[in-house]
Amino acid sequence: MSNEIWVVADLTIDGKVRKATFEGLSEARRKLAGKLGGQLCGVLLGSGVSGLASELGKYGAEKVYAVDNELLKDYTPEGYSIALSELIKKHEPHIVITGNTSIGQDYFPRVAARVGAGLTLDAIDLDLTDDKRLKIRRYMYSAKSIATVEFLDHKPMMTTIRPNVFKPEEAAKNPEVVNESIDIKPERILTKTVEVKRKESTRPELTEADRIVSGGRGMASGDNFYLIFDLADAIGAAAGASRAAVDSGFVPYEMQVGQTGKVVSPTLYIAIAISGSVQHYAGMGSSKVIVAINKDQDAPIFQKCDYGIVADLFQLVPALTEEFKKLLAQQ
Ligand SMILES: Cc1cc2nc3c(=O)[nH]c(=O)nc-3n(C[C@H](O)[C@H](O)[C@H](O)COP(=O)(O)OP(=O)(O)OC[C@H]3O[C@@H](n4cnc5c(N)ncnc54)[C@H](O)[C@@H]3O)c2cc1C
Repeated sequence: MSNEIWVVADLTIDGKVRKATFEGLSEARRKLAGKLGGQLCGVLLGSGVSGLASELGKYGAEKVYAVDNELLKDYTPEGYSIALSELIKKHEPHIVITGNTSIGQDYFPRVAARVGAGLTLDAIDLDLTDDKRLKIRRYMYSAKSIATVEFLDHKPMMTTIRPNVFKPEEAAKNPEVVNESIDIKPERILTKTVEVKRKESTRPELTEADRIVSGGRGMASGDNFYLIFDLADAIGAAAGASRAAVDSGFVPYEMQVGQTGKVVSPTLYIAIAISGSVQHYAGMGSSKVIVAINKDQDAPIFQKCDYGIVADLFQLVPALTEEFKKLLAQQ
């Protein structure tokens, strides 16, 4: 058994390292590596990925394991699960972390099952007990409570972390790169990516955005969502929506925030014409500053926000957008 802490890189479809990886490395260095007396390592899974090791080094990885394999070019649950579980069996790390992205949520449980590890999802805090067991905190019951979970003394201890919660902090290292060839039999890969369709957008991705403007059922139609997009663009924000707005056909599902949509943690979340259901809150409750705009002064969202404005969105939002544009133009 080693004392290594692994942060498995999340890559975008263009092969870039996602911010969640840097957040994981930074928090593991701040909260775990010193206490554990263990080495902080990055793990790269993919094809042609070993060149990304220096990126992980920038955020404190002292060693990077790279599994470069043509069969890992496109994400498949089988390929990633085999590669990571074989790597874990060989090196026996103490802790294994990745981002709570859709890919992380898909294959980490499979890996945990293969290697017989304990697993928690969506951690918002990482720590170690005095006897060096991983201890995490995570939201429960639609973010109404926070659970503290301690692992039993069984390695590895695996967790995913909520993106945008931990601060990425550079700590330059020149990592040793360990190229690993894992034998992945092509016939064990049971799924194939046939086509990848990308939606081009100039706005930030919801789960990584620092600012988000979301609209709810009170927007009344998809056409009115230009008000959300204009405000979002004025302040460099991503655009989101409540499920009611999505179910009404105003905007596509990929914009949905909440229990059955995306979980976001921006610095600023502006909720416009959203009543503040527990299911919506489950997806945005960890935002640092929540601003609500609603014409009903008794809307539940006013119990959950930092700043509340009782107003009709059709009057307030265009004026707000203009003010932001003016102010930002002066800077
Ligand atoms: C299992 C389950 C999962 C769910 N998952 C999700 C989820 O992931 N995400 C999610 O959002 N919901 C989810 N829901 C649905 C959730 O319960 C609510 O129905 C939904 O969040 C309501 O969306 P809303 O706030 O936009 O609509 P409403 O509750 O109808 O609120 C609309 C608000 O707009 C305000 N308004 C209207 N006109 C104006 C105006 N002109 N100016 C200003 N304010 C105005 C109203 O006062 C009202 O407060 C889920 C429900 C279930 C049962």
